[in-house]
Amino acid sequence: MDFSFTVEQEAFRQEVRSFLEHEIRQGAFQPMCDGWLQGFSRDFTKKVAAKGWLGINWPKEHGGMGRSYFDRLVLTEEMLRYGAPTAYHWVAEGQTGRAIYTDGTEELKQELLPKILRGEICFGLGMSEPDAGSDLAALKTRAVEEGDYYIISGQKMWTTSAGYMTHIILLARTDPAAPKQQGISQFVIDCKLPGITIRPTIDMVDREAWGEVFFDNVRVHKKYLVGEKNRGFFQVLKQLDYERAGMEWLMGNYPLFDALIKFSKETKRNGKPICEDPLIRSRLAQLEVEFEVGRMLIYRVAQVMAQGKAPNVEAAIAKPFCTTWEQHLAGIATDILGLYGQLWQESGYAPIMGMAPHSFLASKGYSLQAGTNEILKGIVAARGLGLPSIT
Ligand SMILES: Cc1cc2nc3c(=O)[nH]c(=O)nc-3n(C[C@H](O)[C@H](O)[C@H](O)COP(=O)(O)OP(=O)(O)OC[C@H]3O[C@@H](n4cnc5c(N)ncnc54)[C@H](O)[C@@H]3O)c2cc1C
Repeated sequence: MDFSFTVEQEAFRQEVRSFLEHEIRQGAFQPMCDGWLQGFSRDFTKKVAAKGWLGINWPKEHGGMGRSYFDRLVLTEEMLRYGAPTAYHWVAEGQTGRAIYTDGTEELKQELLPKILRGEICFGLGMSEPDAGSDLAALKTRAVEEGDYYIISGQKMWTTSAGYMTHIILLARTDPAAPKQQGISQFVIDCKLPGITIRPTIDMVDREAWGEVFFDNVRVHKKYLVGEKNRGFFQVLKQLDYERAGMEWLMGNYPLFDALIKFSKETKRNGKPICEDPLIRSRLAQLEVEFEVGRMLIYRVAQVMAQGKAPNVEAAIAKPFCTTWEQHLAGIATDILGLYGQLWQESGYAPIMGMAPHSFLASKGYSLQAGTNEILKGIVAARGLGLPSIT
C-alpha cells in the first residue's frame, strides 16, 4: 500500500498551484466556497482548457491526455483548495464527457467531445423531477418517437447549472409499458431548441445555480440518444458512481477551513490569539482529523477508478462522510466566529468574507444532491455488507 504521490505528480501539483496563484494575482478570481458548483467563469474554463487540463485523464482516442486518475485528483484537489471558479466545466468534463465517450455514438463523440475539451459548452444534469428524486425511475418526462426525432415533454427540477448550461443530459421515458427502470433513455439536448423553458431556483443562499427545466414538445434528433434505447436508467446508475466519487464533496468549502485557521491565529481575545483557547484548538484539530480521514476515503475511490472499476460502494461510503464533514466545518466556523460570523459578505463587518453563513446554509444540500445519505447508506448496507435489499 502506497499513500504517496509520485515526483511527477507533486511537480504537477506545484504547476497547478503556480497557475492558480498567478490567476488570483491577476484578479481573475477570488477564492470562493462552492466554486465547482457556483463559480461560473467561461474565461477561467477556457484558460484551464488551454493548459490541456480538461479531459486530463480521458483516453487519448477521445481527445484527452490519457493521464492517470490520480493526476486528475491532484488537479481537482488544488482547484478546490484555491476555491477556483470551475463550475462551467465541472459536470461536462467530469461526468457528461465520460458518459458520451463510454455510451455515445461516434457521431455524438465527434460533435460534442471537442467542444467540452475546449471549454465551449456547459452541461446540466436533468434527472430529478417533482415526483422523482431518490426513486428516480418514477420519472414521467416522455420522449415519443416520430420519424427521425423524439418529441420530449415534461419537467425537470434541481438542474445544476440551469442558468448557464448550453446543454442538458436528460433522462426521459421511452417505453411507458415496460417495468419502470427498463423504459428510460438518456439524451443530450441543446438548450436552445424551441420548447425549452428554464426557470431559476433561488436557494437559501440567494443563488440561482439550480433551476426547473420545462420541455414542451421539444423535437430532438435521434442522433442525440446516448447509448441504448431503454437502457438509460442503468447507464445513469454507473454515471452516478462517478458523480459521487470526487474531491468536491470534501473540499467544496476548503477556503472556509483555510480562512478559519488563519482567523484563529490572527484574532485576539483577552490579549491572546484565539487559537490558544483549548476548546477552539481541539475543535480545529478534530476537523483536521476528520478531513484527513475523508481525504483517504476519496483516495481509495480514486484507487478503484484507477483500476478501471466503478467505485460503487467506495463512493457511497466516502460521500456521506465527506459531506457530513463539510456541514461540521460550517457549524464549527459559525461557533468560533460568534455573532459577527452570521453576517453576509455584503456587510462590512462580516469576518472571513462572510463565508461561514454561506457554507452553513449551502452545505445542507450536499447530503441530498447526487443521492441522499440515506440512499447511499442503503447501497453500503446492500452491496457493501450483503444485507438483503429493501424497497
Ligand atoms: C443542492 C441540490 C442540487 C441538486 N442537483 C441536481 C441536479 O443537478 N440534477 C438532478 O437531476 N437532481 C439534482 N438534485 C436533486 C437530488 O438528486 C434529489 O433532491 C435527491 O435525489 C432526493 O430526492 P428528493 O429531493 O425528491 O427527496 P425524496 O426522494 O423525496 O426523499 C426525501 C427523504 O426521504 C429519504 N428517502 C427516500 N427514499 C428512501 C429510501 N428508499 N430509504 C431511506 N430513505 C429514503 C431521503 O433520504 C430523504 O431524506 C439536487 C438536489 C439538491 C438539494
